[in-house]
Amino acid sequence: MDKLLVYGGTFNPIHNGHVHLAACFEKITGAQKVLLVPTRVPPHKEVNGLVSAEHRLAMCRLAAKGRGWQVSDMEIRRASPSYTADTLEQLSAEFPDTKLYFVTGEDMFLTLLSWHDPARILKYATICAAPRSTSGLDRLLAYAEKIRQEGGKALVRDVQYLPVSSTQVRSAVQTHRDVQSLVPPAVAAYIAQNSLYREPK
Ligand code: ATP
Repeated sequence: MDKLLVYGGTFNPIHNGHVHLAACFEKITGAQKVLLVPTRVPPHKEVNGLVSAEHRLAMCRLAAKGRGWQVSDMEIRRASPSYTADTLEQLSAEFPDTKLYFVTGEDMFLTLLSWHDPARILKYATICAAPRSTSGLDRLLAYAEKIRQEGGKALVRDVQYLPVSSTQVRSAVQTHRDVQSLVPPAVAAYIAQNSLYREPK
């Protein structure tokens, strides 16, 4: 059976930590296809230094290029709130006979059962997670058990954590520090060319 790895995030911007996490689960699951899905940020949500969805998409495309990954604008294009349950349902219809894996970071994984319609999320995908802190693994394993009790599948792996965040990238740009070690080279070039993240918002 084909396997599709889906990774959703704000990706403001996508950074080496995101790429590393997706690459690890690509290997672990043996997925033939990796799909990055930048999320739609509702207009009322305050996100420090948020750039347009088009910029976030473009940077994901640059990071995906060369790895054979793909990027979907399905959540960004949706007029209504972008629920993971809808995204996974739509993907499962688009890719029949394909096993879906949904990658989350520690923070997202630990709240998954309180998201919109968690039963539908668990129906369509195995949830993958890796710790983002030293104490994270035990919490993830305990939460994976909860997911299993709800009838879902969870795949927790202690993959090496790359300590990078989008917040760190944005603040590096603002303070004129080099971001070459934090984001893929093409993303660093795109940030510079488009003068992104220069002004604190
Ligand atoms: P911000 O700093 O703006 O909050 P972020 O770096 O957490 O952003 P998101 O796009 O919000 O990036 O992350 C999407 C998912 O990827 C989240 O579940 C997050 O936990 C996870 N993630 C982000 N950075 C890393 C990293 N370095 N290692 C592992 N997981 C990560």
